[in-house]
Amino acid sequence: MSDEYLGPDLLARIRERAGRYDHDNDFFDEDLRDLVDAGYLAVHVPAGLGGGGASLRDLTRAQRSLAGAAPATALAVNMHHVWVAVANVVHARGEDFADEVLTGAAAGEIYAFGISEPGNDLMLFGSTSEADPDGEGGYRFSGTKIFTSLSPAWTRLGVFGTDASSPDAPKSVFAFLDREEVSADRVEILDDWDTLGQRASQSRTTILRRAHAPADRVIRRIDPGPSNDPLIFGIFACFEILLASVYTGIAERALTLAAEAAQRRTSRKNDGATLAADPDVRRRIASAGIRLDGVGQQIEALARDVDERADHGELWFPRLSALKWRATEVAREVVTASVQVAGGAAYRSEHELSRLYRDVLAGMFHPSSEDSAHAAMAGVLLGPLPR
Ligand SMILES: Cc1cc2nc3c(=O)[nH]c(=O)nc-3n(C[C@H](O)[C@H](O)[C@H](O)COP(=O)(O)OP(=O)(O)OC[C@H]3O[C@@H](n4cnc5c(N)ncnc54)[C@H](O)[C@@H]3O)c2cc1C
Repeated sequence: MSDEYLGPDLLARIRERAGRYDHDNDFFDEDLRDLVDAGYLAVHVPAGLGGGGASLRDLTRAQRSLAGAAPATALAVNMHHVWVAVANVVHARGEDFADEVLTGAAAGEIYAFGISEPGNDLMLFGSTSEADPDGEGGYRFSGTKIFTSLSPAWTRLGVFGTDASSPDAPKSVFAFLDREEVSADRVEILDDWDTLGQRASQSRTTILRRAHAPADRVIRRIDPGPSNDPLIFGIFACFEILLASVYTGIAERALTLAAEAAQRRTSRKNDGATLAADPDVRRRIASAGIRLDGVGQQIEALARDVDERADHGELWFPRLSALKWRATEVAREVVTASVQVAGGAAYRSEHELSRLYRDVLAGMFHPSSEDSAHAAMAGVLLGPLPR
């Protein structure tokens, strides 16, 4: 699968490197350089601001293609695209507080997502990090951020923390740290990324020690907890849709590999016919294709609705959570079925499918979890939990 933003040659080069990065547990430096050169990090910035003008729907397609070539590269770059997409959503809703992301991305900044914290299942609704006001509208952030993808390369880290000391406290404060402005002892990046999959993302732990964001890098200050604030809606919508795209792209690639294997492998039981003629294999591949097709349609529909500002009312959040959960589950099932069709060869560590099998597992750890997706839908169908 190719698309208009990532040509087949670029995707082929990226695919060719993915196994080495995974094996060596290396960051995808060369991929990143190629993607920057191709203008891919500004592809979702409006054309009027110097970007590629791609819609969110276009971007989901491109991210599926990229994930099919190199899952970890796509997942990490996704974090940058999420911020750009959030800025687009906010801008489209008539607010300009996140515009600096659009101009920054057009100027070559690389944005990372410093949101997750150890043991914090409130996620966006409350931070364990401290945001200490500097008295001039800026903040000093202290705390631990985990799984910071793009750690070796980001130039701007989007973080949030809790302001517990201002008269109107508590407030959740969202800001960007500039790598050039904060010293290494204020933002320490641990060399602790050694995981089962998604290895090239180098999503390392980041320790913040009074890391300063001046007033002009503070983008939002809101009450903690669930909210319809455009920033929260934007992060939620863009994160869930783009994440679903990455894992769907992994599964699409796995299914392609499975179909190729079925055309190649033969059966003595069946007089040397290929497995493509075996009714069980045909059914397995078709079933995977049908499930994947449904998710692909759902991603496109919700991305289009974000682009066009459709109103899903109270169903927005449950639908977005459900999309992420369904996409990552279907992806895991499709990759498992693909490994089954490809046979024992796929169990060898140098086989692409064995890497996809490890990479796709990470889908279950990103929010929204299975439990929160169901809680959100139950909340709409049954109302809030009785006290
Ligand atoms: C490949 C990958 C890339 C990701 N990229 C990003 C990203 O770029 N930005 C981002 O914000 N998030 C990112 N995430 C994070 C992800 O979205 C989840 O927030 C994360 O997986 C947390 O999952 P959890 O709640 O199951 O983990 P937790 O249970 O919170 O555990 C996560 C880590 O915190 C430790 N921990 C748990 N509880 C405590 C405690 N009470 N005290 C101290 N330590 C504790 C655990 O030992 C573990 O090491 C990424 C995740 C993955 C798998």
